[in-house]
Amino acid sequence: MPDMEIFGCAQGREPDVSMRDILFDRDGTLIEDRHYLADPAQVTLLPGVVPALRRLLRAGCRLFVVSNQSGVGRGYFSLESAYACNERLAQLLAAHDVHVTDMLLCPHSPEEGCACRKPRTGMWDALRGRHGLQAAHTAMVGDKCDDVRFGRVAGLRTVLVLTGHGRDHAAKLGLPRLDAGFWAPSVPPPLDMPHAVAVDLAAAVDFLAAGSKRGVFRHL
Ligand SMILES: [Zn+2]
Repeated sequence: MPDMEIFGCAQGREPDVSMRDILFDRDGTLIEDRHYLADPAQVTLLPGVVPALRRLLRAGCRLFVVSNQSGVGRGYFSLESAYACNERLAQLLAAHDVHVTDMLLCPHSPEEGCACRKPRTGMWDALRGRHGLQAAHTAMVGDKCDDVRFGRVAGLRTVLVLTGHGRDHAAKLGLPRLDAGFWAPSVPPPLDMPHAVAVDLAAAVDFLAAGSKRGVFRHL
């Protein structure tokens, strides 16, 4: 249990109400990362995801998923399989009364140069158009540098989680090693860095809950 937080305890405090919408990467962030997941039966929620999402819903947040699925563009699996995995994820969450407002995926390979593959912000633009999201009230949580870049370029409060590929990507970015809770720099980070690194989704939500109290992120 990651109950020791480096920047103090946010347990029991509801998330920052200024964050109305939270975007999540899928593989390695909400569910176990399986290389080119194509079988809905293999969709497995990561530990602690359900209570973390429920906490956000209780605070009035809307939840969204933005996922790169280049396996489609590379010809490894069909677009239908990718959607079926999203549908399975929605079912697993709905069984716990967790409802995601919208899920988007980019089916293109990197070579296609599309506008929607993270770190490009096409999926953010689409969600903003469909659901009226505002960058100042939106956060992005993911396990890869591309998630960080996507969130930062879009102007979102951005958290790198250490599940999935997170530890490798945190090391790439030169972020501190972390065994529990979350860490956030005391000054606004450069554009290629997250606002915080968190051991898992629960710790990421702790950060979102604590951010405004610490006064660091409100005016970014
Ligand atoms: Zn795309």
